[in-house]
Amino acid sequence: MAVPVSQMWAVASYVLKQRILRRKRYATVLMLEPLLRCNLACAGCGKIQYPAHILKKEMEVADALRAVEECGAPIISIPGGEPLMYSKIGELVKELVKRKKYIYLCTNALLLKQRLEEGVFTPSKYLTFNVHMDGGREAHDFAVCREGTYDKAEEAIKLAVGLGYRVCTNTTLFSHVNVEGTRAFFGRMMDLGVEGLTMSPGYSYQKAPDQANFLSREKTFNLFRDLLKDPEPKWQFNQSPLFMEFLMGKLHLECTPWGNPCYTLFGWQKPCYLLQEGYADTWQELLNDTQWENYGRASGNSKCQNCMVHCGYEPTAVHQTFNSAKGFARTVAATLGGLNSRKGKNITPPAVGKRIETVSDVQAQAELSGKLQRALDYRGDVTFQLADGEVVEGFVFNLASDSVEFFPSKAAEVRMIPVKMIRDVDFTGRDFADGKTWEAWVQRYNEAKAKREAGEKVEAIGIFSEPL
Ligand code: SF4
Ligand code: SF4
Repeated sequence: MAVPVSQMWAVASYVLKQRILRRKRYATVLMLEPLLRCNLACAGCGKIQYPAHILKKEMEVADALRAVEECGAPIISIPGGEPLMYSKIGELVKELVKRKKYIYLCTNALLLKQRLEEGVFTPSKYLTFNVHMDGGREAHDFAVCREGTYDKAEEAIKLAVGLGYRVCTNTTLFSHVNVEGTRAFFGRMMDLGVEGLTMSPGYSYQKAPDQANFLSREKTFNLFRDLLKDPEPKWQFNQSPLFMEFLMGKLHLECTPWGNPCYTLFGWQKPCYLLQEGYADTWQELLNDTQWENYGRASGNSKCQNCMVHCGYEPTAVHQTFNSAKGFARTVAATLGGLNSRKGKNITPPAVGKRIETVSDVQAQAELSGKLQRALDYRGDVTFQLADGEVVEGFVFNLASDSVEFFPSKAAEVRMIPVKMIRDVDFTGRDFADGKTWEAWVQRYNEAKAKREAGEKVEAIGIFSEPL
């Protein structure tokens, strides 16, 4: 495996310490999302579809560090949004390095060259750039809906490697993947000098623009068996061998949803990095108040049935490796033998505080409860009409039985209103997860392709029109 020994030791000793302390639930990787803004709009991404006032927000470094201390994970993954667009990324990384946390800065690398030239970072064994690369040039540019991104990312990888940074790649796979092209891409990345490759099937985000190309469990097994058949000796994977065996269908793992928790602008995401069922204020609240038995494939939860994403299963693999002789032996065998061998307690439907008197009251309350549930799921602003006549607009991120929390569209501070104050909810804002961007991209992509095939010169295209 490509992971340095010091990092493996940090994780192993941390897991053993949790065992000594008899902690049943702990995190190995904290997914820290300091912003939700991005300079791409990838087909399989369900993270960035928010109104502009949410996309403009950034986490305070002090809040991020508090989350890091609270959960104690030895590894901090910084996704987003695009973390290189975060104005305090240099300061955050410096503070994490000071705390000896191993950082995986997940970036699409469009701004990497610029940030390196600006001297925002310093090479360190604690800092790895984890570059989003969904395959070779054509596959990657199509998946991220912008031509020219592969070349830009490759240029930045070469620069970062040359400057002595740790670099690995992170590839999300969908059903349209080209196996041979992806294998060639693995070789290309290793030739560039990256430390290791990481992969995961895409999660079927309900909010992602492209809903047609997510992998089922069976297809995932077949795809990874094909991809990893007779692996080239130079391929190095920067992830647990047991997780890779799981992806190939050789090993059964159950999800550990608390293993890679996600701290965002809204708080601790419930229950995992992928599902958004409200937010807890603290790590302990997330651990204590989540009904964990309702998640993971074994629970029967339909949202978990096809999920094989690293954030749910890597922690299981790590736990097995360091918690049982069998798991450790299997990891060693796979390594040596190669691959072929913030607030709100729950989201229960809100009870309306007003006393029920008539049939029409009951209907009105049921309708309002339905609207509030929809507001929690909505990736746009909603408008509340309150009992005192006030009308307020904002983005809802938490719904409890007696209150709603939201970011007002015209004020910086979070606001909480009692459900009993709400008379109606209007979905007046645009839902940014309406899928229109994907349809528009496929249409433009096919038109450009047809023109090129007919010999016409077509400039690089993308969902965003500004130059790369
Ligand atoms: S690079 Fe793509 S997947 Fe990553 S946050 Fe941006 S839009 Fe989402
Ligand atoms: S199976 Fe996937 S979606 Fe379900 S709880 Fe685990 S990580 Fe989350």
